[in-house]
Amino acid sequence: MKTDRITKRLLALLLAAVCLFALCACGNTVVEENAADREETAAEPEHDAEEIRRAVKPEEPEEVYPGPDVELTEYDGVVEHLFFHPVIAYPEMAFRGDYMEQGLDDWMLTVSEYDAILDRLYENGYILVDIGDVWGLETDAEETGPEDTENAEPDAGKTDGRDKDGHHGKHGSKDSRRRQNWEEGSSGGRKHVVRKKLMLPKGKKPLIISYDDVNYYEYMREYGFTYKLIVKDGKVWSWGLDPQGKEVVSRDLDAVTILDKFVEEHPDFSMYGVKGCIALTGYEGILGYRTQTSTDGLTAEQEKQRQEEIKAVGPVIDALKENGWYFGSHTWGHIDLSGYGVDGVASDTQRWKDEVASLVGDTPYLFYPHGARPDGDDFGQTGSVFEYLYGQGYRVFFSVGIESFSHIKEDIPAVIADRMHPDGTTLRWNRDRYMRFYDAKDVFDYDHRPDLGRDW
Ligand SMILES: [Zn+2]
Repeated sequence: MKTDRITKRLLALLLAAVCLFALCACGNTVVEENAADREETAAEPEHDAEEIRRAVKPEEPEEVYPGPDVELTEYDGVVEHLFFHPVIAYPEMAFRGDYMEQGLDDWMLTVSEYDAILDRLYENGYILVDIGDVWGLETDAEETGPEDTENAEPDAGKTDGRDKDGHHGKHGSKDSRRRQNWEEGSSGGRKHVVRKKLMLPKGKKPLIISYDDVNYYEYMREYGFTYKLIVKDGKVWSWGLDPQGKEVVSRDLDAVTILDKFVEEHPDFSMYGVKGCIALTGYEGILGYRTQTSTDGLTAEQEKQRQEEIKAVGPVIDALKENGWYFGSHTWGHIDLSGYGVDGVASDTQRWKDEVASLVGDTPYLFYPHGARPDGDDFGQTGSVFEYLYGQGYRVFFSVGIESFSHIKEDIPAVIADRMHPDGTTLRWNRDRYMRFYDAKDVFDYDHRPDLGRDW
C-alpha cells in the first residue's frame, strides 16, 4: 500500500516534468499534475516517458462502456445528483478581495477542487447516468412493473438504454431517444412517471451531474472563468484569456471539457458515455455565444452579429450532444419562480423557447434558478405556475437541497428532485454530508480560497 503510494507520487512527479516540458506553452502544470494523480492504470516507473504519456492521454476510447462482457445488475436505491457551476480557471482573478469574492467563494469551485472531486467520485464507485434512464413516462395501457419486465424481452429505451447488440446506437439517435422517453404516446391512457429499471455494472452507484449557468456570463470573464466552448478535432475545448490576457485553448480549465477528458481516461465512470445535463439561461446567450435578443430591439448590425453567434454555436451544440451532453432549462432570465405568477413565467418561458430551445432543442428538464420552487411549494401542492410549466413540456423539476431527494408526483405526471451542491459553502460547512462523495479536507483549495472559515 505504502510502496504503491510512493510509486504513484514518483510517477506523478515524473509526469509533471514531462507535461511541463511538453506543454510549457499552455503553462498549466497544476491541472496536468492532477491528471497524472488520477491515472489509475499507470505504467511502471521504468517505462519511458512516451509510454506514460500515452497511458495518460489515450487517443480514442476503444468502445462505449459497458461493453457486452460487463455484467449488469438492477439498482433500485437512491440515485445521487450533484450540480456544479462553471469552475474558476484562474482563482487569483476570482479571489481578489472585492465585492464579488464572497459570492464566488460560496457558489463556485476552482479547477483543482473540481479535478479532485471527480477523482474521488470515481474512486468511490460512482458512475454517470442519464436522467432519462432514471425516470420516464408511461401510460396505464403499457404499464409494466419490475416483476413484469424481469422475463420480458429487453427493450432498448425502457430498460438500460442498450439496443439488441448492447450498444447505444449512433450518437444522433441518443438525443431522439431522450426525447422519446418523455413523449406522451398515442394510447390515450392515463400517463404517469415511473422510476425505470436501472441496470448498472456490479458495485457501481449511479450519479446524475448537472451544470447550471453554462452561459459564460460577462461578469465571469472578468473573474477567472473561461469565455466560451469551441470545437476542435471533434472535441469540445474552452477558449479564454489568462490573467496576462493571452489566448488559451484548453481542455483542463473548464468543467465541461475536464469531464469529457476524465471519461476518456476512465470510460467506466459513465454509462454509455453520458456526461451531464447543461442547464442554460438565455439572457446573455448560451455557451459563451451572445445569441440573445433585446427588448430594446437590435440594430441591423447587432442582429447580423447575433446571427453570426447563432451560426457559430451550432457546431458546439452538436459536439456536446455527440459527446454525451444534454440540455435543460434554467429559465431565460434566471427568474425566481417562487415570486412570479403565470403571466411572468409564460413570457420568460416563451423567450427561452424562442432563443434557447430553438438552438439546443426542447427539453423535459427544468432547473429552478436559486432553487426556488414555483407557487412557493412544488411538493405539497401543484399550483398554477407548476401546471403551466408542465403544459410547456417540463416533466422533471430540479431544485437544490441537502439530499438527493426525489418525489414522483401523484396528481400530475412529473417528478420533483433535489440536487446537492459541491461548492464553497458545502466544502466549508457541510463536510459530513458530502463524505460519501469526497472529503472536503482533501479537495479544498487551500492555496487560493480566502480565509472565510470552516467548521472542520
Ligand atoms: Zn443559476
